[in-house]
Amino acid sequence: MKEQYPISFCPVCGHSSFKHYLDVPDWLVSKERFELKQCEQCHFVFTANAPSEKEIGPYYNSEEYVEHSDTTNGLIYSIYHVARRVMLNFKYRKIKRLNTGKKLLDIGSGSGYFMNHMKKNGYDVTGVEISEKANALCEKNFGIKAHSPSEFIEEKLDKNYDIISLWHVFEHVYSYDTYFDLFSKSLNDKGYLILALPNCDSPDAKIYKSYWSAYDTPRHIWHFTPKTIEKFAKKRGFNIIKKHRLPLDPFFNAMVSDSYRDRFTFLPITLLKGLYSYLVSLLNIEKSSSIIYVFKKNI
Ligand SMILES: [Zn+2]
Repeated sequence: MKEQYPISFCPVCGHSSFKHYLDVPDWLVSKERFELKQCEQCHFVFTANAPSEKEIGPYYNSEEYVEHSDTTNGLIYSIYHVARRVMLNFKYRKIKRLNTGKKLLDIGSGSGYFMNHMKKNGYDVTGVEISEKANALCEKNFGIKAHSPSEFIEEKLDKNYDIISLWHVFEHVYSYDTYFDLFSKSLNDKGYLILALPNCDSPDAKIYKSYWSAYDTPRHIWHFTPKTIEKFAKKRGFNIIKKHRLPLDPFFNAMVSDSYRDRFTFLPITLLKGLYSYLVSLLNIEKSSSIIYVFKKNI
């Protein structure tokens, strides 16, 4: 029996009674089933029986885990790589508009595309990444050496950052309080914390249910919505400043989610589902498939 990561109280509101929310298989690697539970008080959703941090390693062993690899096989992944170039510019423009300093810490820096893009635009970048494979790619491709999470946790890195960014990373983090404490210590008073997270209150999450690719169990432990992340951050001394939708995510989620279904899917229909989700998010950003949250320290 694998050791599980115990969750006895809600990280958002502290309540301890939960109800069943959804069963979600690990489509990508193990095909094991995981249970999502929901807090009865604040409606926060989380993976209730995720493996412990010690046991999670093998669940990341997939060529298809594109965040950490450079595979270009298949239509979805070719599109993903083109989309990445578009999104790098999008992220850069949003950060530039914050009009703050250029000292940036990227946590979960992966194979380093974002760091490299920001460095080319004059930012002083530091990365933290758990995957040695991703770190090696980053160093080989861009000559940037990222740090291990333990160096960050043991406070061996510099402080006084203007920006700390986590792009689709915080939903994977076990020791969330340690990380928030370090965000607070590592940001200067003018600094911004940027979290990009999937939103399980989006139309694509509702359409695809257990097939929704952004549940990504058991790698994603926390399934935030705008309400729950804002409450979570506020409790830890961070106030929400801005939200941006990530415009390509509903399309990417639709393509990956449909690929998990055991039947023929027609790409235009998949893209229509993505488009529907995108259009809903234009009317209400709280329904976006993924959201970039910009927080500021409460000083
Ligand atoms: Zn709660």
